[in-house]
Amino acid sequence: MSQDMESSAGGAAGGARSRAGARLRAPAFWIWLGLVALVAVGLAMDLLHPTLAFMMGLLLVLALVVPRPASAPPPFRASPVAAAAAPQPGSDAKVEAVVSALPEPALLLTTEGEIVTANARVGLAIGPVRVGDPLSFLVRVPEVLDAVRAAATDGLPRRVEFAERVPLDRWLEAHVVPLHLDAGGDRRSGASPDAVLLTFRDLTQQRRVEQMRADFVANASHELRTPLASLSGFIETLQGPARNDAAARERFLAIMAAQARRMSRLIDDLLSLSRIELNAHVQPETPVELGAIVTHVCDTLSPLAADRGVALELVADPERLAVRGDRDELIRLFENLVENALKYGAAGQQVLVTVGHEAGPKGRVAVITVRDFGPGIAPEHLPRLTERFYRVDVAASREQGGTGLGLAIVKHIVARHRGRLAVDSVLGEGAAFTVRLDVLP
Ligand code: ADP
Repeated sequence: MSQDMESSAGGAAGGARSRAGARLRAPAFWIWLGLVALVAVGLAMDLLHPTLAFMMGLLLVLALVVPRPASAPPPFRASPVAAAAAPQPGSDAKVEAVVSALPEPALLLTTEGEIVTANARVGLAIGPVRVGDPLSFLVRVPEVLDAVRAAATDGLPRRVEFAERVPLDRWLEAHVVPLHLDAGGDRRSGASPDAVLLTFRDLTQQRRVEQMRADFVANASHELRTPLASLSGFIETLQGPARNDAAARERFLAIMAAQARRMSRLIDDLLSLSRIELNAHVQPETPVELGAIVTHVCDTLSPLAADRGVALELVADPERLAVRGDRDELIRLFENLVENALKYGAAGQQVLVTVGHEAGPKGRVAVITVRDFGPGIAPEHLPRLTERFYRVDVAASREQGGTGLGLAIVKHIVARHRGRLAVDSVLGEGAAFTVRLDVLP
């Protein structure tokens, strides 16, 4: 920024040249030249007394040399070079070009806090701008207005963070930078600032990620702490009161084994989630056949289906549906969906898995649906189902050995495969989870 300002001032030589140029363009200069010509002609034709001619010549020289009184400077003055091209009074075309090129919402203000220029991003992110308005018409955050005032006075930059609740929750950061445009951007000149640059940065996304990370750590610790507390409790009981009770020992050891399995499932899920996330930007390359993968998953889970008294049915497209994919991840994806249908939709006593295809804009799309006929999911839960640790019924999930991470893993695997996931459900009629993946030509 300061480099741009220096080049626009153009140095002392440039300033002198531009002053001479301005004089040449002034009408007074041509009147003066006409008078000089008249005096010369008068002298040549002996029409003027030499003393009178000398006096007139002296006056003409003085008119050229004596500087004109300067008009009072506006609070923000344009540099001399750009003054002729400035589109608004007091603004500078080069400064405007720089402000409009900034990637963040940016405003140039006078030291009195009036808007000199703003880029288009201000209109989108902050509100409609009118040049000449005080900043307070646009930004009503007292901390920002105070920072602008203080920076214009002491010449020091400032950073202000603030939150907005209306119309949406968002966090913003304002940077207030005093400028010394007339000094070519040089703060060391000792002069007070002649303009203030105000830029904004939206911190909402960053804050949300920080919040999500904190929530995730809190949830993961809580999920681990519960079985750990139960394990410690049983260890103490077995060391103390139940030391010689063989029947209690057997019962407690079975519970402890179940809790240990729960902890290891949770750690497995956490590790898979982080591994999938780590590779999220790399789409798998290997061609894999979906029919074979889904058949394998249904075969693996048929004992669980039998255990739950559910008829697990697979209806597969006779055509080969090859996609670019990671076989293990795709197995994990469909295992999670079929397992959920068997766990939560068991009351419907039937789980139907279909593998088909449809025409998409870029070719064939494989459509795999896992449908159950159980209690279904209320509409208010649907948008949050794939969040980590989100459960419709926490107790029911724990009872089924759920970690609350299954659908988050599904979502990430689908995203890594550049596919789409859809959930449809009608309360009391069951739920259908549909995955769409582009088929290789
Ligand atoms: P969990 O480990 O608890 O099963 P998931 O992420 O797989 O975690 O699922 C999140 C929640 O979504 C489950 O706790 C359950 O409440 C709900 N859910 C998932 N699949 C079904 C389904 N087929 N029918 C009803 N509810 C379901």
